[in-house]
Amino acid sequence: MENARIAAVFGRIADILEILGENAFRIRSYRNASRTVGDLTETLADMVAEGKDLTDLPGIGDSLAGKIREILASGTCEMLEDLQKRLPAHLPDLLHVKGLGPKKVKVLYERLGIQSLGDLKTAAGAGKIRDLDGMGAKTEQNILQGLATLESEAGRIGIKEAADAVRALGRHLDGVEAVRRWQVAGSFRRRRETIGDLDVLVEAPQREQAADGILAYRPIETILARGGQKVSVALVEGLQVDFRFVDTQAFGAAMMYFTGSKAHNIVLRKRAQKRRLKLNEYGLFRGKRRVAGETEEEVFAALDLPWIPPELREDRGEIDAAAERKLPNLVEPADIRGDLHAHSTATDGANTPRQLADAARQRGYQYLAVTDHSQAVTIAGGLKASDLRRHADRVRRVNADLDGFWLLAGVEVDILNDGRLDLPQKVLEGLDWVVASVHSAFSLAEAKMTDRILAAVRSGVVHCLGHPFGRIIGRRDPIRFDVDRVFEACREAGVCLEINAYPDRLDLPDVYCKRAREMGVTMVISTDAHKIADLDLMEFGVSVARRGWLEKADVLNTLSASSLRKRLTRS
Ligand SMILES: [Zn+2]
Ligand SMILES: [Zn+2]
Repeated sequence: MENARIAAVFGRIADILEILGENAFRIRSYRNASRTVGDLTETLADMVAEGKDLTDLPGIGDSLAGKIREILASGTCEMLEDLQKRLPAHLPDLLHVKGLGPKKVKVLYERLGIQSLGDLKTAAGAGKIRDLDGMGAKTEQNILQGLATLESEAGRIGIKEAADAVRALGRHLDGVEAVRRWQVAGSFRRRRETIGDLDVLVEAPQREQAADGILAYRPIETILARGGQKVSVALVEGLQVDFRFVDTQAFGAAMMYFTGSKAHNIVLRKRAQKRRLKLNEYGLFRGKRRVAGETEEEVFAALDLPWIPPELREDRGEIDAAAERKLPNLVEPADIRGDLHAHSTATDGANTPRQLADAARQRGYQYLAVTDHSQAVTIAGGLKASDLRRHADRVRRVNADLDGFWLLAGVEVDILNDGRLDLPQKVLEGLDWVVASVHSAFSLAEAKMTDRILAAVRSGVVHCLGHPFGRIIGRRDPIRFDVDRVFEACREAGVCLEINAYPDRLDLPDVYCKRAREMGVTMVISTDAHKIADLDLMEFGVSVARRGWLEKADVLNTLSASSLRKRLTRS
């Protein structure tokens, strides 16, 4: 069983406890357990099989460890079954609608008998919600909007979940003897933020045997189709996977076809037609003769193009750029030299500065910035000026003990509603690295929000604008501001824009990376790590940067420690 299933059970328990108005501490422990399990790199099934002690995991005590074993054995646990009897089965789904908390869900259920997302949509559409206590027309409007967002995201999973699923599936496919070669195409290969389903191309001379081997994969819940061309399955976590059998001489053409995007492929097909060629999933043809098809490189070459990285295949000018030999030389994970956004135990992180430094060094980094929250973020225990000074001293003492590694004393300071920073200028001036972020009042009008951010950018003490749009994918819309004015101000003031690599943020989004690059703004790819394992999220930020056409020189944290130090020396 996949960890995702166990995480989902804990998440559902927390949802129900919340609607029932149970103890907040209890709710949080299930939420945390869900997150801990979801973030593990090792599967719990393996850990249990190897006799490892689950209570060594953060936030997992004896009781939760027992439940994990119960879920592994039965797919569910008694507590969830009992809780579900106390509420309609689909009521907790309402919590996934943006703006609906447990209190409102309870009211909707008790007053209007709403039991599902379908009921909610009907009631909101009929204008029945605005008259409820504490709701009003605005809440009703927000619910309709939230439902629309949820629908557009339905059936899509985040890039990290997809990457985890691919890794697990890959281990299985590598062991199937009849599978000679396999590769994932589709939006996963283009590294989109969310993935609808997985397209896996398979080369296998003995297709029957290969299909048998593929279908032996344990996390398969349902077999949707099985034929000589294609095997389709649904995995337990709800992800659909299409395995397509492809011949050797067509593998490259099929990879191009199934990688997409559709818009990119249309432009390529037109280019082929102009050359009296025909491009499809079986190859590039002149009449009936196959001119190319075995590799992507040879198909592109036959169209007078260099190979185009999958992340660029969105019909955003990549084919013209390729034709003019002006494709960017995209930044790569191996170019990253350090991480400039991480939280420690001083606020809401799980590890000490020293532990973060050691973990960063293990990953081959030369530096890491400890950027804990400022006082406005009370929920995370944000630091006030005196605490931050002490904390920075402590970070510097740790740094003094580190040989050949730079632990930057930094902060993630809040940008207050009026554009002031949440800490005195003097304190911020004394730090090595200042990230400024919006964590509140996300719905300010565009003009006010623009002024707010411009004030921070022009403060003279900020190095980087953290998660600039403040969005949470599928849950919180991006804040609205005049993008060009803010980017221009960043360029003038030498302030970087962050690409936050946290999988539900991925902020700056790719199209804005491209815009910022065109405007001459430097970017920073950061994980916003709250624990050591988060440092490995860097790859998802790099994917966004690549989709945004960024080269190594566009990304500040590709600099060596010594170059970074020179760059940051305040003039
Ligand atoms: Zn933040
Ligand atoms: Zn942060």
